[in-house]
Amino acid sequence: MNTERLSNRLAAVAAFVEKGAIVADIGSDHAYLPCFLIHTGQVQHAVAGEVAKGPYDSAVRNVRREGLADAVTVRLADGLLAIEESDAVDTVTIAGMGGPLIATILENGKQRLTHVKRIITQPNIHAKAIREWAVHNDWKITDEQILQEDGKIYEIIVLEKGQATYDDVELLVGPLLSTEKSAVFLEKWERELSEWHRVLDSLEKAEKTEAIRIKSEQLKEQINLVGKVLAI
Ligand code: SAM
Repeated sequence: MNTERLSNRLAAVAAFVEKGAIVADIGSDHAYLPCFLIHTGQVQHAVAGEVAKGPYDSAVRNVRREGLADAVTVRLADGLLAIEESDAVDTVTIAGMGGPLIATILENGKQRLTHVKRIITQPNIHAKAIREWAVHNDWKITDEQILQEDGKIYEIIVLEKGQATYDDVELLVGPLLSTEKSAVFLEKWERELSEWHRVLDSLEKAEKTEAIRIKSEQLKEQINLVGKVLAI
């Protein structure tokens, strides 16, 4: 992967960025995504936000090496604090982290989202946290994608302003992904189901504490929900 050729995962995120958007990529290790978007002419200006010094330095180096310092502003900042009013950012991308961390970044910085029209997230795990954050904060899911690369399965969730409600199954597996039920979607949830069954078996052999009882009940509930989706 480099600034001109992205992984399939990041290329899929890039494809959801509208032409002419002003993008802030949060957690922009290497600044690959913003540089790619400028190279392809998809956007004219982007912000790359990074909280950790090492990845920030690497983003700065890449942007300079590509001669893109006028087009990509790299900031060392926690989450959405990388976005300044004068940037006029209308699209945020947050990729390659766990769903709960992405949801925390959105929650902690939501005052910076006033002018943002689209949020493109790519959680590595626990995408449900993002869907729950969206519902509680008046963002609706306008697109979802699931893809497999190097044996790993990734989800992409696109949010736009608006109200929506989703039931427990939709929050867990995605309202659009569960309608589409692609081969990758089925594989992801088959994998999760077998992992949950494995954990449940070992919990049932363990000493029966209250914590174990609660965890077993939660697992059974999830197995039941996902089992129904796969059975339809
Ligand atoms: N977005 C890139 C991708 O998808 O390939 C990089 C993913 S990398 C696994 C996650 C990056 O997010 C790390 O560089 C980490 O330092 C950064 N990060 C984690 N929490 C952050 C936060 N609160 N604000 C900004 N960056 C953060």
